[in-house]
Amino acid sequence: MYTIRIYGVGVDREVLEWLALSLGDIFNAEITVDPRGIPLGEVLRFYRPEREQVDAAALLEHLSRRVVPGPQGRILVVVKGDGYVEGLNFVFGVAMPGWGGIVFTEHLDPQFYGQPPSPGLFRARLLKEALHELGHSYGLRHCRRDCVMRYSNSVYDVDRKPARFCPHCRAELEFLQPGLLR
Ligand SMILES: [Zn+2]
Ligand SMILES: [Zn+2]
Repeated sequence: MYTIRIYGVGVDREVLEWLALSLGDIFNAEITVDPRGIPLGEVLRFYRPEREQVDAAALLEHLSRRVVPGPQGRILVVVKGDGYVEGLNFVFGVAMPGWGGIVFTEHLDPQFYGQPPSPGLFRARLLKEALHELGHSYGLRHCRRDCVMRYSNSVYDVDRKPARFCPHCRAELEFLQPGLLR
């Protein structure tokens, strides 16, 4: 039985529940939202004031030891904040094969770009990045097709890619994780 456990950090419970339902349309998995989430203070240990961002790689390393998924399980952490990895201005998310991933929401929010609030657009972007990081966690690499596994440099790229795996990635996922896809 595949499982995905979602942990929020400063993210509305309602958004996480919506994400769980949406992922459930794609993955044949038991998807739950952990009611406690991850304490903000734990994430702030990896906050780098000189960049005003969270060190995503260090946080991933930490969480992968602290939060243990069950057999065939994955963890998805959604952080209301901004993360980076060395060499990049920011990242939408990071992933660890076999464990799960982290998504940072700051650059997914239309308001970050001075646009009016749009919960629908925000959620559509969040779903894509959650699928992308989970895809990595299941063993997928980047894809150049019309596919959620396409690498996104900017929110423009996020908006242009679909919230689904292309036939090539679907076939690969079916091989790597039989029965995972609906
Ligand atoms: Zn990626
Ligand atoms: Zn693909």
